[in-house]
Amino acid sequence: MSEVTSVAARALLEAERDALQTELAELDGRDYDANFADSSQVTAERGEAERLSNSLRETLDEVEAALAKLDDGTYGLCEECGEAISGARLEAMPAARNCITHASNPR
Ligand SMILES: [Zn+2]
Repeated sequence: MSEVTSVAARALLEAERDALQTELAELDGRDYDANFADSSQVTAERGEAERLSNSLRETLDEVEAALAKLDDGTYGLCEECGEAISGARLEAMPAARNCITHASNPR
């Protein structure tokens, strides 16, 4: 992978990580009105926030794993076959772990 590509990937991943962390902090800091603590509305909202928060955390894990790979020099290689992931795919999904061939059946 060229120097330019990995520098660009790092910038994208770091920006995404920051955005995810901000969003998670906002979710975690959300205040629920104690007076309505039993209402199904609040319960539903809490459940929704929890699901969103879990999915953001998963994405954040992926982004951090990709950043770690940039550090150890394995970034951009498919975790299944070890082949280089195409530049276009990485551009669209900087945290991609697999090449196109293995994208549809992750471990
Ligand atoms: Zn592969």
